[in-house]
Amino acid sequence: MKPARFEYVAARSVEEAVAARAAHDDTVVLAGGQSLIPMLNYRVAQPDAVIDINRVPGLGGISVADGAVRVGAMVRHRQLELSDEAFAANPLLREVMGNVAHIPIRNRGTICGSLAHADAAAELPAALVCLGGSVTVQGTGGQRTVAASDLFMFHMTTTLQPDEIITEALFPALPDGAGYAFVEMTRRHGDYAVAGICAVITPDAGGGCAAASISACGIAEKPVRLPDVEAALVGTDLSEAAVRAAAAHVDGAVTNEDDGAGGRYRRKVARTLIVRAVATAVSRAAGNAGQ
Ligand code: FAD
Repeated sequence: MKPARFEYVAARSVEEAVAARAAHDDTVVLAGGQSLIPMLNYRVAQPDAVIDINRVPGLGGISVADGAVRVGAMVRHRQLELSDEAFAANPLLREVMGNVAHIPIRNRGTICGSLAHADAAAELPAALVCLGGSVTVQGTGGQRTVAASDLFMFHMTTTLQPDEIITEALFPALPDGAGYAFVEMTRRHGDYAVAGICAVITPDAGGGCAAASISACGIAEKPVRLPDVEAALVGTDLSEAAVRAAAAHVDGAVTNEDDGAGGRYRRKVARTLIVRAVATAVSRAAGNAGQ
């Protein structure tokens, strides 16, 4: 199929892009186009205007400063995946990126595009939620910071205003002494996750769990933190039995019942992935592998 008619705006600055969004009733932003172009072609999206930000200068950088990895709006997935600077600050990001689609898609798709697209089964939004990151957005009213916990509303729906664009994503560095893991279950390699788990675990000096941050994609209508699982882990000795018992607390968070088994299958997958992710994170924390 071919897209419905739309106006095409090649913005040359963030201000121009924001003004163009404000000037039309219904706009979309063209970043990597990996999700948008199929949506236009299938007429799932029929906007008045497409605002292309590929020619906007200053949106293509990755930097590490003040304990965070900052990723500009036009940074492609593959750039972040291959960035040694980002890896040194937070190796979790490379692991997450390796699970997003396939290399040709990652060559074009952008980090901020994935966050704005907000697919409930996508890996990057879950990573932003797990790390307690944020995005910088700009609209006609100026710039603001939106915490990951306030960004995602529903599947493919964020709290961005219609005139706003994401200019940067901020992923906090991994805490000192923490281990990390991202694991997912997909039907085929490169697919969106049936369920995915992102874990950052900080063991204490005796090998018990001092802190845990765990999030999931695919199990609900948006990426979610799993506070019940986290609370059940902290203070335990991180033994397999303790982790299995904590993982069972995911059940109430699984609201995506779309598995032909009323959610039972996804609950089982999510529990198993939590056990695997925590075990990997703990072993990495012990060996500081990849850091
Ligand atoms: P675009 O397609 O350009 O835009 C997508 C949406 O985000 C649009 O609504 C647009 O308005 C909005 N948008 C983009 N940038 C901004 C911005 N800076 N500010 C405000 N709004 C913005 N993704 C996964 O996460 N996991 C997968 O496993 C996965 N598998 C895929 C498999 C295939 C075959 C394909 C084609 C895609 C897959 N994707 C997957 C999607 C891919 O990662 C997309 O690149 C990504 O979701 C969107 O990034 P983009 O830069 O291409 O955004």
